[in-house]
Amino acid sequence: MTDQLIDFLDTCPTAYHTADELVRRLTSSGFVPLDEGVAWAFEPRSRYLVRRGGAVVAWITGGRPVEDAGFRITTAHTDSPFLRIKHAAAQTAGGYLVAPIEVYGSPIYSTWFDRELEVAGVLAVVSEGDRGRRTRLLPFRLADARVVIPSLAYHLNRSVNDGAAVNAHDHLRVVLGSADDRDPRSALKEAAARSVGVGVDSIIHAEFHLCDARGAAPTGLAGEFLTAHGLDNKAACFSIYRALANAEPRDTTLLAVWYDHEEIGSRTPSGAESVFLRRLLERIAGSPEAMARAAARSAIVSQDAAHAVHPNYTNKHDRAYAPVLGGGPVLKTDVNQRYAASVELAAHIRLLCREAGFAVQELINRADNRPGSTVGPFSAAQTGIATIDVGIPLLAMHSVRETAAPSDVNAMTDITSAFFAEE
Ligand code: ZN
Repeated sequence: MTDQLIDFLDTCPTAYHTADELVRRLTSSGFVPLDEGVAWAFEPRSRYLVRRGGAVVAWITGGRPVEDAGFRITTAHTDSPFLRIKHAAAQTAGGYLVAPIEVYGSPIYSTWFDRELEVAGVLAVVSEGDRGRRTRLLPFRLADARVVIPSLAYHLNRSVNDGAAVNAHDHLRVVLGSADDRDPRSALKEAAARSVGVGVDSIIHAEFHLCDARGAAPTGLAGEFLTAHGLDNKAACFSIYRALANAEPRDTTLLAVWYDHEEIGSRTPSGAESVFLRRLLERIAGSPEAMARAAARSAIVSQDAAHAVHPNYTNKHDRAYAPVLGGGPVLKTDVNQRYAASVELAAHIRLLCREAGFAVQELINRADNRPGSTVGPFSAAQTGIATIDVGIPLLAMHSVRETAAPSDVNAMTDITSAFFAEE
């Protein structure tokens, strides 16, 4: 399973690639892609999916109508913090070709220095054909080129180990190479065009993301951990995919949501604080009345990473609420509902874990630390469906490389499968 997880992580440098990969895998597992813009008709006990940008929803219709049997829903997010290159502002400076960046979400800046970075993203390509003009989106990766954000030498910044501030605009400019005859503003576009075999003039719009170029790698003397870019939340994307792809149809409709834009607050058409999921559920239900009845019989398990206790900062956790890597799934609760915390579902998750033979770890943050949020509370508020937040323990959340335990990812897959298998 670890090899499969590594393969998935290494195939998905951006949210767009993650959505692409999920669609590719789900389609080959028999899920039929639907167009949101046309009328839908469903067969019972059948598999469907919808893609919206970096988000995907896939489901297996139940043997009974949803107003009688409800939905069993699980959610994750495809995005992770990253740096976006302002490619048109690239310039030569000090003999180098450099580009300023824009920060997506809340990364730990210091972790982005001095490592091989990959440029990946999506191109909007226009083509003229018999049936007129057509624009298509092409994800790309610059597989052969690596770039770097060099730190300043210690001798030129002797206070660096005392917590030197990083100004994102001035200090995170990425070095793309040496200054030469290239036009700095089109250098990246030309490289991207070559990588996907299109003419540079056909690119009407482009997004260039920076991501860690090193693949996911086992760590720990026995290989018991895994260190990788974007484990928050691609590890959950993977366990949910595995559980849904292997699920058998039930009376209940089983549904998985991979949202985009969690790291920037979820307030986009493909994020959790949108009508995306609610409208989709309404279409499956068939009427507002059926949807209201279905919601009362449904449950959402929201999966996102939980802070594992850090051996060098143990005082950041309460002792009884200090999850460890490899210790099993984490039930995340917050009295202010920054994590979705349905009491009934908390009990339900504990029972599922007990029956599956997993210990449950628990995370409640220290009273002097306000937790980050997840998609859970947004899905709960948008749909009116009882929701609980769970996840794998994770070290170094929002570092360019995070560390988790594959055994916990496996456990979350099993718990998700057990949740789907209940009648
Ligand atoms: Zn997350």
